[in-house]
Amino acid sequence: MFVNLHVLLINCNFLFRILQIKKMKKLKSVIFLLVSLFSYTQTFAQRVENRDPFILELVNQVSDKQLETYVHKMVSFQTRHTLSDTLSATTGIGAARNWIKSEMEKNIAGSKGRLQVSFDTFVQPADGRRVTVPVTMKNVMAVLPGKNPEDKRMIMVSGHYDSRVTDVMNTKDFAPGANDDASGVAAVMELCRILSKYEFDATLVFVAFVGEEQGLYGATNLAKRAKAEGWNVHLLLNNDIVGNSYGMETDIKDNRSVRIFSEGVPAGETAAQANARISAGNDTEGPARQAARYIKEVGERYVDQLDVKLIYRRDRYLRGGDHTPFSQQGFTAVRVTEMNEDFRRQHQDVRTENGFKFGDLPEYVDYTYLQKVSRMNLAVMVNVAMAPQEPENVVVSTSGLTNKTVLKWTTPKGKAPAGYFVLMRETSAANWERKFFVQDTQATLNYSKDNYFFAVQAVDGKGHESLVVVPKPGR
Ligand SMILES: [Zn+2]
Repeated sequence: MFVNLHVLLINCNFLFRILQIKKMKKLKSVIFLLVSLFSYTQTFAQRVENRDPFILELVNQVSDKQLETYVHKMVSFQTRHTLSDTLSATTGIGAARNWIKSEMEKNIAGSKGRLQVSFDTFVQPADGRRVTVPVTMKNVMAVLPGKNPEDKRMIMVSGHYDSRVTDVMNTKDFAPGANDDASGVAAVMELCRILSKYEFDATLVFVAFVGEEQGLYGATNLAKRAKAEGWNVHLLLNNDIVGNSYGMETDIKDNRSVRIFSEGVPAGETAAQANARISAGNDTEGPARQAARYIKEVGERYVDQLDVKLIYRRDRYLRGGDHTPFSQQGFTAVRVTEMNEDFRRQHQDVRTENGFKFGDLPEYVDYTYLQKVSRMNLAVMVNVAMAPQEPENVVVSTSGLTNKTVLKWTTPKGKAPAGYFVLMRETSAANWERKFFVQDTQATLNYSKDNYFFAVQAVDGKGHESLVVVPKPGR
């Protein structure tokens, strides 16, 4: 802002000199010039936000009231513990999953029959730890198939619907799990409600996982199934604990920051891939990390008053999540979590101690905040789903010693892109700093590959960008 004002003042001085010389007296012209100069300085200093009105309209459909209704209904099942009752129509995990499924099924008509809602059912053997006997577990899943048969990308959003209290084996007591993780499941259900009315090139998948608290069993099972059945899980946005905006101990009230946890080094990396990564210094360039940068860019583009914070970690200390089984199977997956946590309202028996009410209750969820996080998820999913597929065979030429950078790639399958962005940043920078638009399938830049990171993404005529691809060394 200092720079802006500074530039503005210089421009104003310049303007007044023009006025003195030309002795302009028409106030209208002066105002026009001032406004023009101000806009000029703004454009000069700021990045351009290219918002697609269609995506903005979808973003605006995310309702805080609807999210609140979903969270309260999930809490009403008393407990959603993975080993709790499956027969009652009103309490326990059976009632909860039947309700989530039936809510998703309400969207089938609006999708003109395209939305496919199902249980992903499996038997989890006893593990001698948090599963004492073999248990039939069920993820709830809704798939909205893409309209382009050449586009196999599946863009997945998830949360986990199971809940717990202090004792992870307690299957009876009130375990509201409003924030952990009815908030994430509410986001999934809200996106399913809104997006199933539309058609996208890529396939969208909405999942409520089971068994997270017992050992990530729902996600592990689905990730293995996805691998075995050859699904192209292009991106998984796993939302776990996304509804609280208050920091315990720090007393921070912050309803605008959200964290994206991402691995720089893929969990399923082979030895050869590790060697290539170490050689190129690509420790911060893994697909999950690239997805996190993309989420920051697109999320902040479409959601006002939201700061997306990249955390260069798989997850928090002592904690894990459903994104990791997908990373381990070679898919691109990140965790979305609130910035400031209140641990008195996670995994706690509902009780009052010294006048303080412990427990993960729905009245402590910040639904405006949850709405923003849900909107971020929606904007990212739709922007990817509408974008061309990513460029293929992206190579950075290493055939000789040069201070230039030569990048080459081949056109993606499916919808033809309008062009490509070649992304560039300093190796010490967290986010991309420059984007060069090219229509060719190669680019030569007067910047050394030794001194910068580069990547390439495809873009259509409306500015929908694909996920970015990091070049491999080649000729
Ligand atoms: Zn959780």
